[in-house]
Amino acid sequence: MPWSERQRAMLREMGLRVWQTAAPPGLPEPPSNAPAARPTLAPQEASPSHGPASWPAQRPSKGLPQHLPQPLPQPLPAAHEAGISADVAALDWPGLREAVAGCRACRLCEGRKQTVFGVGHVRAHWMIVGEAPGAQEDEQGEPFVGAAGQLLDSMLRALHLSRAEEGDPATRAFIANTLKCRPPGNRNPQPDELERCEPFLVRQIQLVQPRLILAMGRFAVQALLRTAEPIGRLRGRVHRYQGVPLVVTYHPAYLLRSLHDKARAWEDLCLAADTMERAAS
Ligand code: URA
Repeated sequence: MPWSERQRAMLREMGLRVWQTAAPPGLPEPPSNAPAARPTLAPQEASPSHGPASWPAQRPSKGLPQHLPQPLPQPLPAAHEAGISADVAALDWPGLREAVAGCRACRLCEGRKQTVFGVGHVRAHWMIVGEAPGAQEDEQGEPFVGAAGQLLDSMLRALHLSRAEEGDPATRAFIANTLKCRPPGNRNPQPDELERCEPFLVRQIQLVQPRLILAMGRFAVQALLRTAEPIGRLRGRVHRYQGVPLVVTYHPAYLLRSLHDKARAWEDLCLAADTMERAAS
């Protein structure tokens, strides 16, 4: 598909439309490898065709939603007492699923309905890393099934990808979170929780062996790139996680509230698609 057509398809799937400024006659089309131009948003056309991508009446403040202060965390048992050990690094898929389901390494196990392991083709070329399960994910045991998940699915569709477990790995994504249990009240993950849960994500990435990782939101980015740099400073270029190209973008839950950053996320998807294409050629 020509690049400009793909750009439009991505925007459509994400609930965005752009002004079509007719090129003056005689002007050549941009080269197919031209960097993605920033779209001009048509605010009055921005109302989407489906629910989760709808624009809010007001623009939110920047950043992921802030959460109410939480009680101070209780100290955690030592990692080996909690059952997390170097052994995670040797687990196969069934073993890893079992280890996640039985994990009691941090306080989040007390409030969860179930763990949320991840979903998708186990050898998918794309790996999507999010933050943590919310209420619906905790209920259903699958990542990204709420409103943010519907937007993520739209984004995947724009890339001709799906979270299906079967099929061509090139058109599949494996979706996982930095945390496998829901933080109470959807508060931000705490550093010790992220640390305890990290071996599971690391092992998932090792097993999937993705060709590209899309890190969504600051917790995914911080966990994988070990940086406190804001997303705005990290996006727009290709990073590496253990040799695997990694593209940084905003979290879908945040994108549901931010028109401008949704357009930027679309640029990030273009970068990811382009990176994948280049790697395949
Ligand atoms: N947000 C995430 O980061 N992950 C989910 O699974 C759901 C919402």
